Amino acid sequence: MVGISGGGMTRDQEKQLKAALEAKRGALIREINDHRNCLVIGPASDPVDQASSSVDRDLAIRYVARICSVLHLVEGALNEIRDATFGVCSKCGKEIPAKRLQAVPWSPYCISCQKLAEQFRRGAEMSAVHL
Ligand SMILES: [Zn+2]
Repeated sequence: MVGISGGGMTRDQEKQLKAALEAKRGALIREINDHRNCLVIGPASDPVDQASSSVDRDLAIRYVARICSVLHLVEGALNEIRDATFGVCSKCGKEIPAKRLQAVPWSPYCISCQKLAEQFRRGAEMSAVHL
């Protein structure tokens, strides 16, 4: 039987991954909603309070930004399942190993492309430092 990803996954595995992705999406959306209150600037009381709440707010903004980027990947993976393109690396078009998908179901890249992307990012950071 040829599966959705060209035979890499069984229908049961695919169902499990879809359920895992949907659960993850629900959890991420809840997290974002929980932190939304922190993003609102409260009425300024005394300067000490104000300073600590601005640090909290800064952390919350960074936290929510990170969650949003994972949410984006999770939704992308769910779209790919719907379009029957799930399990294929978005960079090189090769099949992503089922083991990797079970560990990180929202991973858009195969292992070698992920490594390249990380090297590229590190390289970009390095050159930014040297500028
Ligand atoms: Zn790849």
